[in-house]
Amino acid sequence: TKGAAMVTAVASRVQAQRKQIDKVLALFQLTREQLVGIRDKMRVEFEYGLKRDTHPLATVKMLPTYVCGMPDGTEKGKFLALDLGGTNFRVLLVKIRSGRRSVRMYNKIFTIPLEIMQGTGEELFDHIVQCIADFLDYMGLKGAQLPLGFTFSFPCRQASIDKGTLIEWTKGFKATDCEGEDVVDMLREAIKRRNEFDLDIVAVVNDTVGTMMTCGYEDRNCEVGLIAGTGSNMCYMEEMRNIELVEGDEGKMCINTEWGGFGDNGCLDDIRTQYDKEVDEGSLNPGKQRYEKMTSGMYLGEIVRQILIDLTKQGLLFRGQISERLRTRGIFETKFLSQIESDRLALLQVRKILQQLGLDSTCEDSIVVKEVCGAVSRRAAELYGAGLAAIVEKRREDQGFEHLKITVGVDGTLYKLHPHFSRILQETVKELAPRCDVTFMLSEDGSGKGAALITAVAKRLQQARRE
Ligand code: BGC
Ligand code: MG
Repeated sequence: TKGAAMVTAVASRVQAQRKQIDKVLALFQLTREQLVGIRDKMRVEFEYGLKRDTHPLATVKMLPTYVCGMPDGTEKGKFLALDLGGTNFRVLLVKIRSGRRSVRMYNKIFTIPLEIMQGTGEELFDHIVQCIADFLDYMGLKGAQLPLGFTFSFPCRQASIDKGTLIEWTKGFKATDCEGEDVVDMLREAIKRRNEFDLDIVAVVNDTVGTMMTCGYEDRNCEVGLIAGTGSNMCYMEEMRNIELVEGDEGKMCINTEWGGFGDNGCLDDIRTQYDKEVDEGSLNPGKQRYEKMTSGMYLGEIVRQILIDLTKQGLLFRGQISERLRTRGIFETKFLSQIESDRLALLQVRKILQQLGLDSTCEDSIVVKEVCGAVSRRAAELYGAGLAAIVEKRREDQGFEHLKITVGVDGTLYKLHPHFSRILQETVKELAPRCDVTFMLSEDGSGKGAALITAVAKRLQQARRE
């Protein structure tokens, strides 16, 4: 009959649509072999970055940080810390008490307006110093000459702990006249321009390093720092003899890998999708930070948005209507992904979230959107896992151990807020580095506390040298 024929027609159309959707989702599914391959490529890039001959062209830069030791518990005093480059800009006062390994912190969050992130370097640093002034006022500390640690979460070439030349901006920053400049000098000059207070800038540190330090304060086994937040990066303790860029063979030094640049030489092209390419092309730094763009909070929502646009164009979503909102860059923040993927959330609530984003969805639409989010965040977590497996395996082999027990200090909104990311990441590491026993330790405010601890250690060493 006619009715039955119509039902069959609808059913087969639904089936065909499902196939098309699955085809897109499949682009994000990595096989075990692929993940093993990614782990091994990452390992190769680590070695390139460490070797003098290959370093200049390496895409994973493996930057020496001049952080050589962990705090020993004798550190003490009051320190200022700045945290620039994550979700928020913060100024902190950190009080470290020796012996008890206890730290007290006071902090204030400031926003950095887009015009300033992408204005001139002078404006950016004047703004930072303005925020420091506000904070000192607020804390009643004007005139106090405190040592300062600067957490600056961008790739910097360092020649000592208190010097850092910005190699290039990443994430949402693009202020002019900063690349190739020493950010500590820029900060000092801005303080001078303001001519209101003096600060003793002791250390500039990457957020991964601060995170590792913070966790290392409590767990001696912590030799890796990981950030899964707005950006993506990892640092670890390396044997000095393997660091060809720095004189000396004794002891260890922390290396900031800047693994976000993994793939910039094309080595991930076989797994990058058209959506990844679109996200890259629409970013502030096309062609750069390809691994970061597949893994970190700033970009995952953008990948999702590109897929949704494509599915809509194919008539598989939102009744084929691309809304103005869907065309808007940045609407899918990590926060939304985390909410949409939460298992406790009923489908109706997913629809509500989409509605808040100006996307009018049917029940089927919300199922598809949730699947898309899941595919994108799962791939991100697996890619992180492959990268992390590469470093713990390297550490195990370098030390000649059959088995390695190691702790990874972690921070970042994606790791902390997403309902599945951390679990998938951990499972992947287990699978890809079976001879390593990896403990994950969440850092409580790693960037701020870590910068203060590093500053405290640097201060202690400075004083010891003088005596
Ligand atoms: C930066 C790293 C930083 C990471 C996490 C990346 O974009 O290049 O230096 O550690 O983001 O904040
Ligand atoms: Mg941070």
